[in-house]
Amino acid sequence: SPTLRHPEEWSRSFSHFISQCLIKDFEARPSVTHLLEHPFIKQAHGKDIALRQQLAALIQEQHLVSLTSYRHVRINTRKTLIIESCPDDDLVNLEFLDEETIISHLHKRYDELQVYTYVGDILIALNPFQNLSIYSPQFSKLYHGVKRADNPPHIFATADAAYQGMVTFCKDQCIIISGESGAGKTESAHLIVQHLTFLGKANNRTLREKILQVNPLVEAFGNACTAINDNSSRFGKYLEMKFTPTGAVIGAKISEYLLEKSRVIKQAPGEENFHIFYYIYAGLYHQDELKTYRLPDGTPPRFVIQHCKVMQDIVSRKQYKEQFDAIQECFRNIGFTEEEVDSAYKILSAILNTGNIEFASITSQHQTDISEVPNSEALENAASLLSIGPEELQEALTSQCVVTRGETIIRSNTVDKAADVRDAMSKALYGRLFSWIVNRINSLLQPDSSGMNVGILDIFGFENFKKNSFEQLCINIANEQIQFYFNQHIFALEQMEYQSEEVDASLVEYEDNRPILDMFLQKPMGLLSLLDEESRFPQATDQTLVDKFEDNLRCKYFLIPKRVELCFGIQHYAGQVMYNVNGFLEKNRDTLPADIVVYSLMDLLSKMVVGQPHFVRCIKPNDDRQALCFCKERVMVQLRYTGILETVNIRRQGYSHRILFEDFVNRYYYLAFRAHEMPETSKENAVAILERAKLKDWVLGKTKVFLKYYHVEQLNLLLREVI
Ligand code: ADP
Ligand code: MG
Repeated sequence: SPTLRHPEEWSRSFSHFISQCLIKDFEARPSVTHLLEHPFIKQAHGKDIALRQQLAALIQEQHLVSLTSYRHVRINTRKTLIIESCPDDDLVNLEFLDEETIISHLHKRYDELQVYTYVGDILIALNPFQNLSIYSPQFSKLYHGVKRADNPPHIFATADAAYQGMVTFCKDQCIIISGESGAGKTESAHLIVQHLTFLGKANNRTLREKILQVNPLVEAFGNACTAINDNSSRFGKYLEMKFTPTGAVIGAKISEYLLEKSRVIKQAPGEENFHIFYYIYAGLYHQDELKTYRLPDGTPPRFVIQHCKVMQDIVSRKQYKEQFDAIQECFRNIGFTEEEVDSAYKILSAILNTGNIEFASITSQHQTDISEVPNSEALENAASLLSIGPEELQEALTSQCVVTRGETIIRSNTVDKAADVRDAMSKALYGRLFSWIVNRINSLLQPDSSGMNVGILDIFGFENFKKNSFEQLCINIANEQIQFYFNQHIFALEQMEYQSEEVDASLVEYEDNRPILDMFLQKPMGLLSLLDEESRFPQATDQTLVDKFEDNLRCKYFLIPKRVELCFGIQHYAGQVMYNVNGFLEKNRDTLPADIVVYSLMDLLSKMVVGQPHFVRCIKPNDDRQALCFCKERVMVQLRYTGILETVNIRRQGYSHRILFEDFVNRYYYLAFRAHEMPETSKENAVAILERAKLKDWVLGKTKVFLKYYHVEQLNLLLREVI
């Protein structure tokens, strides 16, 4: 009769098996007859009725295996029952590891609506662009405290692994979600929060609801409709969920990075302002509210005029109104007071009114082209909403204090300068409002006691547009850092396995992006330091900045194109990007210096380094947001950017297959022994097989044979010949 090879694998999963069967295969708990007719058993043991019966009985009686493992139960020639985790689920198990195979493998799975796939411990998530039924409470139950191999790959499995890691090892965890815009990062982050709140059994229902409402609230202020994604996050977000040592949720904390404030004043063609502006317009639309909040009636304010659907059609106004109500609900549930919410709306309206302030030039005796505000309504509205006098606001916009040689001089602004000040003020107000909301959420959700964390990082992916500016540089440096961290993790893990097996770890080689990071971050000669220095010179121009870079940055990652003016190129890990320095100095002065921003990101990374990382790489299968449409070229590019191919390559260059001596002998003994010999599953016999197969360059660890990918290919080929 078949003997069980991995009893521990078989033990506790019956309920999972049943629940999966209920979903997929059976209406009720499977009976022996059912199991006998199960396609897998039929296929694997079709001829041997007795074996089929035994197996079915075993599965039924002994409460065995989940469906995934079950699909991979097989009986080898020694009548040993072998359970393998589904090799389909993990790219690392593929026999051939070239790009073409990987892509067609992902393609096949995508067509079968298997949007998740592992590469070792990394989860690849292909955006399905349609609602799947795999996030229901049934699935939450399925991915609860189980082994990864028990179930098909899933975003819930990543959340479960992080949760288990935290509870078991009392160690903070972090989940890093990356991918380009529209790839599904934010959705993945939501699903993770959803599953963690489930696993963390917040006894306190209110707390659970509060936590689930953090994302929608923050996203109303930080997300916008772009050409690529209707709900694109215009900021980076790190959400920490706080747990007691026994794993009960007790709070949350959110950190925000690099909010795209320029969107407040200007949006690219076809794009919109932050959602919240449209929500308040639809939500506060009644006559008395319009008055209270002084929202300009009639023509939409300048900042939202582009694509202001609210003004144009009733259906979208109704949708926005619903969103507005939902946001009100979030504010209330999380614990904001009425006054606080009221002030937030007033500031938003103040920003819209500020945007409508216009300037006209007047000529005075001393200066030509000084500005004044001819239309006083917008000015009065904005001032009143900000609780200041209109004269004060006008003065702030149309004049500036200059201190020279100890003397304070008031200088009038030109019309253009006044317009710049107006826009800068609008951006600053919005930035402050956003930070205030985030801080308020943090104080409302702060746990009473300290505990452990699962952090979830949802940050923009690598960007390379036709025209790239300061914002892209900041984002790409952040990605460079994340990649560095990713490499550290992958190789650290790799090296750990080598060391524990006492195999020479110097065999692990990889492309280190540390030199690029150094080029950006080094002091005082790194690119960011140079930029900060140049920003402090009042006479600096775009040309002096480029010259400074060219004089000081002499490495292969920095390029000055010959024929393009005022541009420089960076050879990023993910590819070459050309940056246009136009506006760099201004933007660097205007926002926090890049140096500081990238530092705060460094803080985040150092916080993450302490935790155990989990990586989710989101991939956008096509640019048309179409379900079931897989564009090979697009997927290939993203696999390269996110380092997946690199990861697979590392495994390829290194010893991609590590097989326990026991498993190795069971699998390949045919190559050196006769069928009836039943060799002992020892290290010596493993060596005997390797030698007989005439393989070179394999390495022996303490418990495993370390093989290169092509060894496995060779062995399988030989096996096919023998059998
Ligand atoms: P990103 O944050 O990477 O820019 P989003 O998470 O906002 O991308 O996803 C973009 C869109 O893709 C979503 O609005 C949704 O329509 C779709 N999408 C992403 N992930 C899923 C998913 N798991 N199931 C269904 N639709 C999804
Ligand atoms: Mg997003």
